[in-house]
Amino acid sequence: MPKLRGAVMSLIAAEGLSVRFGGATVLENVDLAVAPGEIVTLVGPNGSGKSTLLRALIGILPAAAGRVRHQPGLRIGYVPQRLHIDRGLPMPVGRFLSLPHRHSRRETAAALARTGMAGAEDRAMADLSGGQFQRVLLARALLMQPQILILDEPTQGLDQPGEAAFYRLIDEVRREIGCAVLMVSHDLHVVMAASDRVICLNGHVCCEGTPQVVSNAPEYRALFGLGTQGALALYQHRHDHDHDHDHGHGHDHGHPHHLHEAGDV
Ligand code: ADP
Ligand code: MG
Repeated sequence: MPKLRGAVMSLIAAEGLSVRFGGATVLENVDLAVAPGEIVTLVGPNGSGKSTLLRALIGILPAAAGRVRHQPGLRIGYVPQRLHIDRGLPMPVGRFLSLPHRHSRRETAAALARTGMAGAEDRAMADLSGGQFQRVLLARALLMQPQILILDEPTQGLDQPGEAAFYRLIDEVRREIGCAVLMVSHDLHVVMAASDRVICLNGHVCCEGTPQVVSNAPEYRALFGLGTQGALALYQHRHDHDHDHDHGHGHDHGHPHHLHEAGDV
């Protein structure tokens, strides 16, 4: 298939999208498109319409203006921000994965194995830890054989190692199945590093670009403030210093970028 510059076929796109609840306009004139294989991270303050945008893109909320386009037959794997499961209702993992679509035991087992939850079919959803619960949600999304995974704050409530592990898992899965990822995050310093593009939302698109560009954009800084963890903790891999203190004395001290701070050795 010929590649058309400037006319890349997006999997999913919002065009001039507005969403209203009653009289309140929650999203105004939003343009967003996700290309195959891309990782796009959506950031923005609470109530800025991130979940609303995802839900409108999926088609569970109507557009008040503008529209949403999907590639024909697009398969979406969606992990919602909140999923309430009645604790009084025993819900084994295997049964949960068969909702709303049934899958073969083999497919279910493979999806669980892929998310590090092999053999969990008979465990009760209510007994899972936060991280295990998110992995099962991801397994359910993978059963859709998605061309795009849409994840709404998937690491909310996880501790930092759990969060880092979950992002690694998403990245592995993406490489393996070649899907695109559209993810809402409040956690910039981990997610942004893996993102091709970051979109900063506040009822409208404030700014967008590579993680580096967005983190330096005045619009972004105005929203998140300079003192907040999000803005300053942006993950960057720096090569101008050396974290590895396990080297012996054969260490190359002639390295031009090798800088030691006082007390570092
Ligand atoms: P975010 O995910 O960025 O925190 P949301 O998309 O959940 O923000 O919400 C954006 C705004 O829309 C909020 O003011 C919220 O109260 C409002 N909102 C979200 N869902 C509904 C709904 N179903 N009915 C009415 N208002 C809603
Ligand atoms: Mg939300």
